[in-house]
Amino acid sequence: MTSVTPKPIYLDHSATTPVDKKVLKMMMPFFSDTFANASSVHSVGQKANSAVDSARRKVAELLRVKPTEIFFTSGGTECCNWAIKGAVLSKEKNRIIVSGIEHAAVLSSAKKLEKQGVEVIYLPVNKEGFVELSELEKVINDKTALVAVMLANNEIGTIQPVKELAAIAKKYGALFFTDAVQAVGSIPVYPLELGVDMLCLSAHKFYGPKGVGVMYIRGGLKHDKLITGGHQERNMRGGTTNVPLIVGLAAAMEFAVVNQEKNSRKIAKLRDYFVAEVFNKIPHTILNGGAKKRLPQNANFTFEYIEGESLLLSLDLNGIACSSGSACSSGSLEPSHVLMAMGITEEKAHGSIRFSFGKYNTKAEIDRVIEELIIVVERLRKISPLYFR
Ligand code: PLP
Repeated sequence: MTSVTPKPIYLDHSATTPVDKKVLKMMMPFFSDTFANASSVHSVGQKANSAVDSARRKVAELLRVKPTEIFFTSGGTECCNWAIKGAVLSKEKNRIIVSGIEHAAVLSSAKKLEKQGVEVIYLPVNKEGFVELSELEKVINDKTALVAVMLANNEIGTIQPVKELAAIAKKYGALFFTDAVQAVGSIPVYPLELGVDMLCLSAHKFYGPKGVGVMYIRGGLKHDKLITGGHQERNMRGGTTNVPLIVGLAAAMEFAVVNQEKNSRKIAKLRDYFVAEVFNKIPHTILNGGAKKRLPQNANFTFEYIEGESLLLSLDLNGIACSSGSACSSGSLEPSHVLMAMGITEEKAHGSIRFSFGKYNTKAEIDRVIEELIIVVERLRKISPLYFR
């Protein structure tokens, strides 16, 4: 008898998503047929340029802003660097405020500025993982160049009160940047409704290609450039235009935004079922981050008395891909800065694991994950010196 290996189950959509086959098909001609440099004046170059123009118009329409406010970049990391470092260069103020649960792209940029003498204030979060308005009111003043708070957190999925925080920043003449990388395709994202000056997104989080993103910069805002070079992106971001990736980003974004409500409803239902099953069937389990105002795809659990990494690796051996809540999987042994900022103990932070669901997941897959999880958690607890029954 031959044993059949079950199909792998992918529950790591907050790390990245597969490129939608329809998107890939739309990108393909721009690798080889319409390959010319979009800055060239000849007609093939202009054909490539016109594809970039339509992508820019499409992205602007989906965000309900002007095409001149859209800048294509290499992804979320570049945008976060641009927003943070550019703000201090252009505003001639020497102080920025960032939340303590931002992505490393924001935090490391802030740290770099700190070393150069910029005053950086780190906003705390409450135990549910939300920034409170009163905390910003306490530290903001008219010397503040920029406030950065992400729209939704990548580890615990909490959706931050960005509209209200941006209104506070405006009162003090500070710019507001929000990292919307995790939010696009999961919740509605409109910069004007949020009242932000800058916002970024990244195609690979919504079934588009890796290595391409968008920076929205409010019209009229004088923001310094990060990458100098040619005259691309209206002189704001040099480098030969990456036509196929930009075409892919706009196509993926259109599918993601148009189908957002439907997909989010389906994904939230699967996630809620998963969370209820975990609580019903596995004792000593904590859901990290507020259950309300949370991205539909996110469930971040601490399984007490065990290490998140051991659990991650055991699930992986059973064909289930998820992510450790701590930064260990990315080469550091530090516990998650997000969970630590929420006041979670180091031990519990080490026991955390993130499941992030996507549009192709099914209930049958979730049932299989639950079955495996029960077995693996029990086995790991039996060998854990921390577990006394
Ligand atoms: N910001 C957040 C919230 C993210 O989750 C990520 C990616 O994980 C990034 C920024 C970086 O985006 P990119 O992978 O496009 O550089």
